[in-house]
Amino acid sequence: MALRTIRVQGDPVLNKTCREVMEMTPRVEILIEDMLETMYEANGVGLAAPQVGILRRVVVIDTGEGEGPLVMINPKLLESSGEQTGDEGCLSVPGKAGVVTRPNHVVASYLDEEMKPCEIEATELLARAICHEIEHLDGHLYTEKVEGDLHDVVYEEEE
Ligand code: ZN
Repeated sequence: MALRTIRVQGDPVLNKTCREVMEMTPRVEILIEDMLETMYEANGVGLAAPQVGILRRVVVIDTGEGEGPLVMINPKLLESSGEQTGDEGCLSVPGKAGVVTRPNHVVASYLDEEMKPCEIEATELLARAICHEIEHLDGHLYTEKVEGDLHDVVYEEEE
């Protein structure tokens, strides 16, 4: 496994549409492992492949609620309902956050690491993360949806 460099806003790779993954290959397996390592190292809730410069439809999410990482290949939103408004951030927009309104409930389909079709129903933070990450795959950042201005996030200093 290896840490990958997280691309930041302004890098054109973040505004491109990603291609679907048609089969699991050693390259994709390594990509997923590296994305997980990179997300945890950066204390992120989610990471999409274009954020490490790879234009494939792969996202990893871990909301830290104890269920472990969710790896989604070719994710699609099937349903969304309700509304939640809250602060959102992105590893590609370091040190900033802004208020975004998202659906409070979503159903999404995806393939797991064995390329098995799966469905997930999610609410609150996980629903927000799924929407945020899927948008990365189509070249969109949350900053396009922010209500008001971005604000600075103050991180606690690590010992
Ligand atoms: Zn993001």
